Amino acid sequence: MKIVVCIKQVPDSSKVDIDPENMTLKRYGVESKINPFDLYAIETAVKLKQTMNGMVCAVSMGPPQTEAAIRESYMLGVDEGVLMTDRNFAGADVLATSYALSQGILAGGMPDLIICGRQTTDGDTGQVGPEIAEFLNIPHLAYVNRIVQADQDGIVVEMDMPETIETVRIGFPCLITVEKGIYQPRLPSFKLKMETRERPVRKMTLADLPDKNPQNYGLKGSPTQVIRVFPPQSSTQRETWDESPETLSEKIYDKLSELKFL
Ligand SMILES: Cc1cc2nc3c(=O)[nH]c(=O)nc-3n(C[C@H](O)[C@H](O)[C@H](O)COP(=O)(O)OP(=O)(O)OC[C@H]3O[C@@H](n4cnc5c(N)ncnc54)[C@H](O)[C@@H]3O)c2cc1C
Repeated sequence: MKIVVCIKQVPDSSKVDIDPENMTLKRYGVESKINPFDLYAIETAVKLKQTMNGMVCAVSMGPPQTEAAIRESYMLGVDEGVLMTDRNFAGADVLATSYALSQGILAGGMPDLIICGRQTTDGDTGQVGPEIAEFLNIPHLAYVNRIVQADQDGIVVEMDMPETIETVRIGFPCLITVEKGIYQPRLPSFKLKMETRERPVRKMTLADLPDKNPQNYGLKGSPTQVIRVFPPQSSTQRETWDESPETLSEKIYDKLSELKFL
């Protein structure tokens, strides 16, 4: 059984500068770590591999420094890693990121199961997993918080929906995004660190993908355009009203409308 786990390297701090030219995050030279949500995806993949006699491949798209995240995943039980890194992938929005990842996954041969984290701590959209599944034309389930059963043909999972827990069986190949708490992520193993020191990280560029058209990747393939990025303004400005409840309710309504909250 082949399991692909998608991991993203994210800044280790909330103090990240924005490039004023293209309104993207400046990631070079910033302390980074594996997206915390992806540690749960890795743990799920490694647990499944142990019960299903499988192998786990970590795939990440990012700048060359992302290799460190893949190396760390080796210390957590991942068997092989692919780093998708190419200037053509830079500046990707969610659509272009998902498309590139789906192409990278296809290039390695369709796995039985793809596991993503629920969301990232920087982009935070939670859309990449389901979009990869759509591009690969395979079924997906989000918010998975328990693996009930797994066999060679598929898995039964529990999904943590807003008001219910849904138990669903899904056949392979498929994609799931997992919740925090599905398993407790293990700590990196020093033994595995030593054993995997020489293990290569496969680099994938545009030339390795089935679709080699640069227009479909990175900034060029991104329909989203960031116009402006700015910190939220805080204001201590206030108004005090001393009126009857009827007048007050009308004034509050008018004020909220004026501020476009309604
Ligand atoms: C116009 C625009 C320009 C942008 N430019 C840049 C840029 O130049 N550089 C940049 O780094 N970001 C850029 N971003 C942000 C980037 O689009 C998102 O970080 C990216 O699409 C992933 O979305 P997300 O972080 O919301 O992931 P989510 O959807 O929240 O992630 C869910 C899961 O998908 C998987 N996943 C997400 N991203 C990756 C990845 N890269 N590799 C492997 N698995 C992944 C993980 O399993 C993760 O837990 C830009 C965004 C926009 C809108």
